Amino acid sequence: MTEKPETRNRKAEGRPRPEIRKQANGTLSRRAAIGIGAAGVAGIAGAASLWDFFSNWRASEAPADIFKGDAPKGELWDLWRKRGWVKEASHYLKLGRNVQCKVCPNNCLLAPGDRSHCRNKVNYDGTLYTLVYANPCTFHIDPVEKKPLFHFLPGSRTFSLATSGCVFRCLNCQNWEISQKKPEETKDPRGEELRLRPPLPSGFTPDQMARLSLFPADAAAVAESLGCPSLSYTYSEPTAFYEYTYDTCKAARERKLRNIVVSCGSIEDRPARDLYALVDAAHVDLKGFDQEVYTKLNSGKLQTILNTLKTLKELGVWFEIINLVVPTYTDNLATIRRMCAWIAKDLGPDQPLHFSRFHPQHKLAYLTPTPVETLVKARDVARSEGLRYVYIGNVPGLEGAETTWCPNCKKAVVERDIFAVTAVNLTDGKCRSCGTKIAGVWS
Ligand code: SF4
Repeated sequence: MTEKPETRNRKAEGRPRPEIRKQANGTLSRRAAIGIGAAGVAGIAGAASLWDFFSNWRASEAPADIFKGDAPKGELWDLWRKRGWVKEASHYLKLGRNVQCKVCPNNCLLAPGDRSHCRNKVNYDGTLYTLVYANPCTFHIDPVEKKPLFHFLPGSRTFSLATSGCVFRCLNCQNWEISQKKPEETKDPRGEELRLRPPLPSGFTPDQMARLSLFPADAAAVAESLGCPSLSYTYSEPTAFYEYTYDTCKAARERKLRNIVVSCGSIEDRPARDLYALVDAAHVDLKGFDQEVYTKLNSGKLQTILNTLKTLKELGVWFEIINLVVPTYTDNLATIRRMCAWIAKDLGPDQPLHFSRFHPQHKLAYLTPTPVETLVKARDVARSEGLRYVYIGNVPGLEGAETTWCPNCKKAVVERDIFAVTAVNLTDGKCRSCGTKIAGVWS
């Protein structure tokens, strides 16, 4: 399927002109209406102020992309329902026949027949539905280090799954082939029904994968049968398959398996608290520390991500942060220093931070990879701000870049080679040399 003109990534294109975004029902949003009133008053001060007003509004309140009239219809809708891939969404408002999703800050407002910004939710006759329930487009068994999580059950394997769709529009997305697709572009309900249960068959053809259903209880059973102590919701964005993630987390807990969420952190407070009550570890992308860059590079709101990180801390969920250092976007060392100072102060010096090397891809294929010296300088900055566990990823062969060092005696406590753990010098989570407790979940 091709996207309709309305779906162009306006956020990624910068903000060259003041444009009032209409809601799905054709009316101005309340925020925009308030803005017009305020700008009308401010307009007395001249056109430059009006321009500034809209520029600032668009920078911090980039509207959702709504796919008008793009919900599946007819036989496709019937087949999708028959497969069990449709489920009423959680965390949404009914506004007459319109609905508004409250899972992430995009707050998609959908008229009947519309599809959401993340491509996964539709308004069907005044009710909001997800299209990706039990409907993964991919799954793998990964080392937990691949998430990356370095302080959580080292050396263990995690059953990892994803559906299509994402709440962001990152210019550098490495999984855009699933994250920037509709469910119908990754799955196909026609043909014989295929439901995945243990024991896991040896392989799937693309055709089988397209027809596969994996319900929450089956996902937990498959993970257990494979000897994986955890399930990971990853690759695209679990916030965009919230209902499936939530129910699978519950099913995993019933089997005493752990849950790992790998997320951009863009989620509203209530759904975050509901979901993370079931989660044991999270890996959050803090993609930068500048709202202007977040808008251009990712279409996200920095403050929401910071709020999510503080919520994880408050709830006692183990989490690690990754920061992808993208040349010309997020490689400013002064900004990196501000970010590290915030992490050390608000989350604490034991908060692990992974700097990751950018490789050209998706819409930033014209950039060069991050120079290794930039990553080393970023690590020095983080350490100088007091962070104790700082890593550099995506640079194979860089000595000690992925080693966990004891912050007291400076001996290596966990050594890694790409995704393999090669040595663990811990006893009950303490350094074997000096007995210092190392932050993390080790068993
Ligand atoms: S989760 Fe999807 S439907 Fe809900 S607000 Fe976010 S982008 Fe919109």
